[in-house]
Formats: sequence, C-alpha cells, structure tokens
Amino acid sequence: MTEPHPSADSFFNMVATISGAFVQATAADVDEVINSALAAIGRFYQADRCYLFKFSADLTTASNSHEWCAPGVSPQLEQLQQLPSAAFGDWYRQWTAGLPSILCDINSLPHDSAEYQLLAPQGIQSLLMLPLKSRDRLLGMFGLDIVRGLQQWSAEQIAGLQLIAGNICSALIRQQIEQQAESLAFYDPVTGLANRQLMLDRILQAQLQSSRSQHYEALLFIDIDDFKTLNDSLGYNTGDRVLKLVGQSLQAVLPSGDTVGRLNADEFLILTEMLSPQRAAAVQEVTDLAAALQAAVAQNVALTQLRPKNTLSIGATLFLGDQLDTDVLITQADMAMHQVKAVGNGLAFFDAEMQLQASRRLLLAHELREAIVNDQFELYFQPQLVHPGVVTGAEALLRWRHPTRGILGPYEFIDFAEESGLILPIGELVLRKACQQLALWQRQAGTSRLELSVNISARQFQQPDFTALVIEILQQSGVDATSLKLELTESMLVDNFEQVVAKMQQLRALGIRFALDDFGTGYSSLVYLKRLPLYQLKIDRGFVDELVQDDNQQAIVRTIIMLGQTLGLEVLAEGVETEAQLKSLLQLGCYHYQGYYFARPLPHSEFEHFLRQHHAGLGY
Ligand code: C2E
Ligand code: CA
Ligand code: CA
Repeated sequence: MTEPHPSADSFFNMVATISGAFVQATAADVDEVINSALAAIGRFYQADRCYLFKFSADLTTASNSHEWCAPGVSPQLEQLQQLPSAAFGDWYRQWTAGLPSILCDINSLPHDSAEYQLLAPQGIQSLLMLPLKSRDRLLGMFGLDIVRGLQQWSAEQIAGLQLIAGNICSALIRQQIEQQAESLAFYDPVTGLANRQLMLDRILQAQLQSSRSQHYEALLFIDIDDFKTLNDSLGYNTGDRVLKLVGQSLQAVLPSGDTVGRLNADEFLILTEMLSPQRAAAVQEVTDLAAALQAAVAQNVALTQLRPKNTLSIGATLFLGDQLDTDVLITQADMAMHQVKAVGNGLAFFDAEMQLQASRRLLLAHELREAIVNDQFELYFQPQLVHPGVVTGAEALLRWRHPTRGILGPYEFIDFAEESGLILPIGELVLRKACQQLALWQRQAGTSRLELSVNISARQFQQPDFTALVIEILQQSGVDATSLKLELTESMLVDNFEQVVAKMQQLRALGIRFALDDFGTGYSSLVYLKRLPLYQLKIDRGFVDELVQDDNQQAIVRTIIMLGQTLGLEVLAEGVETEAQLKSLLQLGCYHYQGYYFARPLPHSEFEHFLRQHHAGLGY
C-alpha cells in the first residue's frame, strides 16, 4: 500500500467536511453552509473568488446569490444581479449540456465576445465554472475566479469541484422544496395571506399575550357579500383577483402587528391585538376598525372596476386571555358573521343570544336525523298546468311533520340541511318517495300521464354517485323516467360545467327531463344555457309577483319567454296568484303555470281530489 498523496488527502478531507455539512443542513441554514463551503473551496484552490449563481425558473436570467472573496479582492455580487442568460455567451449553452467552462487566460477570448465583456470589467484572468444541474434542469452555476494571475486547471481539480457541485445542487433543491412546502403550509396561495394553520398559531400567541397584558384582543370573521354570484357569473380568474384585492385592502388598513388570513372561499379572518383593557372601549375600537375595513374595500378602485359595489359581513368576538380554544373563538366570530348575513348590516358581535342560536342549530341537526329515521318527511304536490287549465303534473315539495311543531315547510330547515350535509339523505328520500308516487299514478287511469318535478339540491347533484342512485331508484320503483323532471338551480351549473353537462346528458339518456328553477335570479349565462340539455325554464316567483304593476318585471318576463322560445324550451311561470297575473302571462306568451291561484301544495290525497274536481269542471 502506498501512502495517499498529501494533497489528495487534504482534498478529500475538505470534500468530506463540506458534504457532511450539506447533509445536515436544514432549509434555514443552507445559505450559511454554502457560504462556508465557498470559503473552504476558495482557500483550497487559492482562488480569488468563489461564488454561486442561481437561474430564474424560466432560465432567462441568473443572479449571483453567494460569494466568497479572498482578502483584498473586490466583491462583485451586487453588480451581478439578474444578468440575462445571453451575457454568458456560449458558456450558457455548455452549462445546459452539463459541461464546465474552463478558462486559463482571458486573452484567449475574442474581445467582442459576451464572455470577454462579462469578465474584463471584473478583472478576471482565469476561471472555472460548473453547471448546477438537477436531472434536466439548470438550477445555477458555481465557479472560481482568479484575478491576480493566470491559472491552469488540472483534471483532478475540475473533477473535485464536480463532486461538490452535486452537493450544492441537492441542498438547493431541498431548500426550494422546503420553502415551497412552508409557504403552502402557512400561506394561502391565492392571496398570499396567512392560512388557517398560521392564523391558529397567531391566535394562540395572542391569547397568551393577552393573558399577560390583560388587554382585549379580537377576532373578526369576514365574508365578502355576494361573492358566490360573482364567482359563478364571471369565473374563477376574476374571483381570484377579487379575493386578492380584498386581501390587499384589508391588509392596508390593519394596524401593524395585526394579522389577516384567508380561511377558505371568500372568508377572511383578522386578528387584532392590544385593544383597550376596557371592554366597552375595545368594542368601539373593533367597530372603528370594521368601518375602516368596509371603507377600504368600497373605495379600492381596482376592485370597484371588477365589482361596482363591495361590502363585507363582519362578525367579531372579543377575548381576554386564553380560557377558550382557538377553534371556539373562530366559531364564535363565524356565528357573529352569520348573524350579520341574517340582518344585513355590516358588523355583529358574538354574544349570548348567538350562543342560544348555536344550540338551536345543534337541536335542529339532532331533530332532522330523528326525522329521517322516523319517517317524518312527506311530499306535498302542487299542480302544474298548461293553458287553458289542464293539469300536466305537479312539483313535489317537501314537508316535515314535526312531532311538536306541526307541519314545517322547507324554509324552516332546508338551508340548514344543505349546510350540514343532511340534504343528502333527505334528498334521496325525496327522490324515492316521488318515484313511488309517480309509479302509482302511472298505473292508474286518469293520472297515468302526470309529470312529476323534483327539486334537486346542488350538493346532491354534485355527488359522484348521483346518477347511479337515480338509476337504482328508477329500477326499484319501476317508474317510466320520461315523466320525471329534475329541477336544478343556476348556481349548481357553474362549478365543473363540463361534468354537470355530462351528468345531465347521462340522465337525459334515461329519459329524465330537466327544469331550471328560479330562473332569472342568478347570473345566467346564455352560453351555458345553450349547452345544457334542458327542457323547461321556471320563471321565478319574484317576477310574477309584480308583473301587473311593474313594466320592468314585464320586460324581464318577456325576455325570458323569448329566450325560452329561442332555445326551444318550455317556459313555466311560478307563483301565479291572481287572474290578472295569469292574463298578463298569457299575453306575453307563457302557457305553463304553477301557483296558489290554481292550488297550493297539497298532500297526495288532496292533490288527486283536486285533479278530479278540476278536470270535471273543465269537462274532462
Ligand atoms: P321552489 O322550488 O321555488 O318551490 C316553490 C315554492 O313556492 C314552494 O314553497 C311553493 O309552496 C311556493 N309557491 C307556489 N306557488 C306560490 C304562490 O302562488 N305564491 C307564493 N307566495 N308561493 C308559492 P315551499 O314548498 O315552501 O318550498 C320552498 C323551497 O324549498 C322550494 O322553492 C325549493 O327550493 C325548496 N324545496 C322544496 N322541496 C324540496 C325538496 O324536496 N328538495 C330540495 N332540495 N329543495 C326543496
Ligand atoms: Ca322548484
Ligand atoms: Ca322556484
């Protein structure tokens, strides 16, 4: 065995030390490890500078990110920022191919070359540069300069540096990945604001601080009014821009030290700290802040260009110390925000009354589950007619036979069922009952050709297995699907439009028809309408209401009717209550109706009774 060459020995020692440091480096200290590695390499090679460049993600520019200089050699880092890749001349091409750039004497370069122009002002005589490549991607470049003389580079020196380049490269990648993961873990990618995780952490800190300082702190839960309709009508890009602008507006008025985060969709959370130690004064401070936030979004010019009117619903809760869980605080602010939505003015505080409501909701959830199990739901049927008064079918409308409160209409529970997800079992039950009833009618003379409309909630329709469920119910009830109509609302058509169309087409192929409910209330896009396999438009009750007195409503109804005709759709007016309304609709060219003028929603026995009476009257 021969003794290892002393210089090889010290070289391997250096490489081993550097690699060891890189292996242990966390994202936070990678920069430090790189700097000390550059210093070690620079000294070992007796270079004047040792440095790292990072390329931009699109490879158009590179910037000097780390630099070590021998004593007496002038640093270049500040001048070498955002250099276009072309400034490296042919070398750039070599690096992308994974090849090093080796220069022993600057004067071997043509003086008009990009390379010469780059090096000469820095006083470089010789250099060695190695690409930092990961798989096929050029991340950066790592090099040594000699300013004070010429240098020949040996094959061993180049190979040694290549080893180290690999180390630097993997450390850079790890750093990039960790930084990305960190920003994903704590920041909302759309607005760049804190996410829920980070907010929870900040609230916890604030609680600890408040218990020391005995100053009030507050959480504000903020929801952008009418955001959903905008998102549905203008698309997600615009929606994201609005969120970003709102986030900026909120941040702009926040006192420094306060935090704004985005929870989800159009919900923001603000943590405001070090309010007054007096409760009443703290309430006033929060009130003032809320007003400032409202003003900021209302007056943001970029925002008003997208949405003329911008208002917020803000729910606030105050806290002192850390008695409550952070989650509970957020829930309190959220509940206060919902209170605002209910009464429609900008700010509400969480208090005992809201707590009461919260317990009511808990009770309602419990009772609804009981209602499903104990079969307390029934369908009522409201006749649908065609001019001059023939009943074509009915809309099935849900009723809850509550054990103590009597018969309850959907307005008492359907929104809650939707929010809580209970709409899924309830919706399934509605569809089963409706198909059972329809099957019975189909077997009886006199009712065999009735059509039945069933309301489908957005959430129900979006279930991946909705089609399978419908098929199963159709088979089980043995119903002829061509008499079944599903009523959808505009809002559900916008998320995943292509999927919605595909699903509608599958169901349409089974014979099922579709009605678009409450038409005119959403932001209907005609482009969407044309592509949907629809059968019927239902003009919302709101337009029929004022039809006789209001020219504007008449114009809207006329437009809807024309639209329906253009698209070859049946148009049905809902909520017809008077003969005058009926006449006006007829004049405008609408021949299908539903409303109290003919009949209210009726239990099935009464509906059948109505049918016999009504048709007897007409001479059927
Ligand atoms: P909708 O689909 O627009 O149903 C029409 C509502 O208008 C019914 O209220 C009906 O009773 C009422 N109505 C009908 N004619 C008139 C009239 O001439 N004047 C007035 N003022 N009102 C009239 P209901 O039954 O309380 O249902 C309310 C809403 O609840 C429905 O609105 C529908 O969105 C929802 N809903 C009802 N049943 C179901 C169901 O089984 N599933 C789902 N997902 N939603 C349902
Ligand atoms: Ca309906
Ligand atoms: Ca409707």
